[in-house]
Amino acid sequence: MYEDALIELRRDIHRWPELAGSEQRTAALVADRLRAAGLEVTTGVGGHGVVAILHGDEPGPVIAYRADLDAVADTETFDSDFRSRVPGAAHLCGHDIHTTIAVGAAEGLCRRRPARGQVVFIFQPAEENLTGARAMIDDGLLDRTRPQEIYALHCAPIPVGTFVITPGAGLPGQDHCRISPPAADVERIAAAVDGLSTVHRPQTPEQFQRLIQDLATEDGPLSRYVYVQSYVDADEVHAWWRAWPDDRYPEIRDELRRLADGAAIEFPAPPFPAMVSSPELSLAAAKPLRTVGEIVTLSAAYPFNGEDFALFLQRIPGAMIFLGVANEAAGLHGITHATDFGADERAIGLGVQAVVTLLTDRLAAIM
Ligand SMILES: [Zn+2]
Repeated sequence: MYEDALIELRRDIHRWPELAGSEQRTAALVADRLRAAGLEVTTGVGGHGVVAILHGDEPGPVIAYRADLDAVADTETFDSDFRSRVPGAAHLCGHDIHTTIAVGAAEGLCRRRPARGQVVFIFQPAEENLTGARAMIDDGLLDRTRPQEIYALHCAPIPVGTFVITPGAGLPGQDHCRISPPAADVERIAAAVDGLSTVHRPQTPEQFQRLIQDLATEDGPLSRYVYVQSYVDADEVHAWWRAWPDDRYPEIRDELRRLADGAAIEFPAPPFPAMVSSPELSLAAAKPLRTVGEIVTLSAAYPFNGEDFALFLQRIPGAMIFLGVANEAAGLHGITHATDFGADERAIGLGVQAVVTLLTDRLAAIM
């Protein structure tokens, strides 16, 4: 069965994960397969990025669909016969699933070719270190292909068969600083920095349910937040934080300068932007997706992850849609970046259906 073949592809990528910037094998696998399917394939875009263009019968709108290729630098503890064979690398963020779904959708659209327009399938490297989207854009990808809309799916710890849309929300950006206080003040300042957090990672299923409720509440407790993580190294306090909405970063920097209490404080880079899905296009996407699964709408950005799909959405309207991969009864919680990340592989077939339906719908909708 075709779906079983896709699951085999996912397991192959899962066994041989590649970290940000070294996605040679995964990129070659994707490129070979999509070339064989008849797409126009370009490799080496912004590093190991692959771009595969599918042409409809007639000219028309251009829609982009993005998947990410790289794995997480950590050790997998989830046991399976397709467990990572590479020490210190594992697909704990589901990018193996994203890549497989994009391949499946591209092959599916080849079989029932759209009447008009183009789909640009973007396989992005180096998402985990937030450099791959920037590299592909700087390589001229969007100027060459000129997509009018862009979409992506991302695995999420919600029941398989569910899709989450986040109109006007998505995932926060992040910022980072280093404070060098006198040794006697290090612990006090680190504690004060941590004390800025207004949200905390859920530790129990009840807390997780509460978080989902808060995310679904318009103007609720997560309409504004900051989430800080810090550590002390060589008497310096290093802190990362995610805030929502994006315009909070200047005020948080001011607050950190006050907490530094005269000690040297350095912000090595500007804040990385939040990923914000278009309100209109998120809602428009829900319509075709409803034919594939159940739709949940969240009103706030999930506080603990970021995404460099943010940079595509800054340039082109579109949406990230979260794909349920959890199946608690089967011991698959689907929490991304957990070392025991496990996903219900039925999400792959559902994801392919969702992407094919969504892209077909949008190609017909855009005049
Ligand atoms: Zn990810």
